[in-house]
Amino acid sequence: MSITPLMPVYPRCGVRPVRGEHCHLIDEDGTRYLDFASGIAVNLLGHSHPGLIGAIQKQAETLMHVSNLYGSPQGEALAQRLVDKTFADTVFFTNSGAEAVEAAIKTARAYHQSVGNDDKYELITFTNAFHGRTMATISASNQEKMHKGFMPLLAGFKYAEFDDLDSAKALMGPNTAGFLVEPIQGEGGIRPASDEFIKGLRALCDEHDLMLVFDEVQCGVARTGTLYAYEQYGVEPDILATAKGIGGGFPLGACLATERAARGMGIGTHGSTYGGNPLAMAAGTAVLDAVANDEFLSEVREKGERIRARLEQFIGNYPDLFDFVRGKGLMLGLRMKVESRPFYAHLRDNHQLLTVAAGDQTLRILPPLVIGDAEIDEFFDKLSAGAADYQPPEAA
Ligand SMILES: *Cc1c(COP(=O)(O)O)cnc(C)c1O
Repeated sequence: MSITPLMPVYPRCGVRPVRGEHCHLIDEDGTRYLDFASGIAVNLLGHSHPGLIGAIQKQAETLMHVSNLYGSPQGEALAQRLVDKTFADTVFFTNSGAEAVEAAIKTARAYHQSVGNDDKYELITFTNAFHGRTMATISASNQEKMHKGFMPLLAGFKYAEFDDLDSAKALMGPNTAGFLVEPIQGEGGIRPASDEFIKGLRALCDEHDLMLVFDEVQCGVARTGTLYAYEQYGVEPDILATAKGIGGGFPLGACLATERAARGMGIGTHGSTYGGNPLAMAAGTAVLDAVANDEFLSEVREKGERIRARLEQFIGNYPDLFDFVRGKGLMLGLRMKVESRPFYAHLRDNHQLLTVAAGDQTLRILPPLVIGDAEIDEFFDKLSAGAADYQPPEAA
């Protein structure tokens, strides 16, 4: 027997965190890491937020789980809050991002099929997108490395060039149900779509009665300095998938939709055993209590701008290593001139700084949204030291 008890699908590194303190992770052997990865954009409130812990503790003692066959005061309250704060009229809670995207895909198809437009099942998605690891969500991505070994894919997806409206238009046809897009690509390398692209997709949807579906699993929930990134584009989707940050570390996602978009999602059309259970609702409520207000959001924007300005100044010292900075709020990407993965490993192993590698030679900088000056200074100390003693593998 040589397979590991944990199915070996992840290239797990040597860091083995056992405890979290605010913006730091502490390893088995006591080593402290500055966490500018946040469990990949999950731990918005850091690791030991009293409000989040208290809410989960209290709910765990009161009622952890009941079936969705019963009424849900907690679910109604959180759904109402999301409805009040967004474009949406209705919310389906899930346990993960992929499930939120699945629900979004089903909602988009059902919009058309519920009125007999059975041919309109195809979603146009975009190159280098990441939507999750279920069969539908890998089928929604053009990335072959996620398809290999899992063929055949689910039918009904076509891949256009990201941020290229003409490419999207060229794929439209009688089967088109809508577009599924990350307004800011995360895994793809922190690539914000342009205003014209997002506005253009909205216009196409309005003109042809199609569904505009945003995957804000990574860029949503205050990460970019607005509750959802779409607000900064001045465009509202019909359907939106959210997850990652929304539970602050508790597994939670949601599919948000307008009343019109959700017309196919009646009784019995969809479900989830755990989705939206009281414990998850308590976590989601605590996160929204902390982040869904103007003061918190403007702080995220301000901290994002500060880090970005310092990064832009900093990368000038290393023109051979770094190319440019992109992103919004505290969802930042450092585009490198060399592969980002070995540099990310170097920062982690030699400077105890956790970031995330992404596509397109980009280093993702995704700190908890509650960072302060001390963490920002520590980040730049570690990053500077890491850049100064970095030997890219080809030169080593
Ligand atoms: C992480 C991610 C997903 C998948 O979320 P899981 O919780 O891992 O299923 C989907 N879309 C985007 C944009 C993501 O970043």
